[in-house]
Amino acid sequence: MAIIITDECINCGACEPECPNNAIYDAGSAWRFSDGTNLNGIIDFGGKQIDAEAAQEAVSDEVYYIVSDKCTECKGFHDEPQCAAVCPVDCCIDDEDVRETEEELLMKKNWLHQEK
Ligand code: SF4
Ligand code: SF4
Repeated sequence: MAIIITDECINCGACEPECPNNAIYDAGSAWRFSDGTNLNGIIDFGGKQIDAEAAQEAVSDEVYYIVSDKCTECKGFHDEPQCAAVCPVDCCIDDEDVRETEEELLMKKNWLHQEK
């Protein structure tokens, strides 16, 4: 599963630079598949054609948020989720609604950082 930030977040910003996939964004900021990844141009995302550089709507306007499609639970980079490791209020938790196997998470990591 991916990690989710709860509304207990105090917007300290400590987690954002720790994410190897640039999956964490400040409240209200647009996100992009291309940010911090090797994705660019038109990409195939689950059968949908998407512009990797296109700005996507913020998931939260109140607190920092995680884009689950970019979160790999840090698989392939670290032994544990880095956002959860640094969060001072322990509000980075398992997202029960986004269940993925380790193999799926590693495939996602390879997709995000594929050589072009
Ligand atoms: Fe980023 Fe890792 Fe946190 Fe997912 S678990 S948002 S990949 S730091
Ligand atoms: Fe919010 Fe925790 Fe990230 Fe700070 S480290 S911005 S409290 S999720």
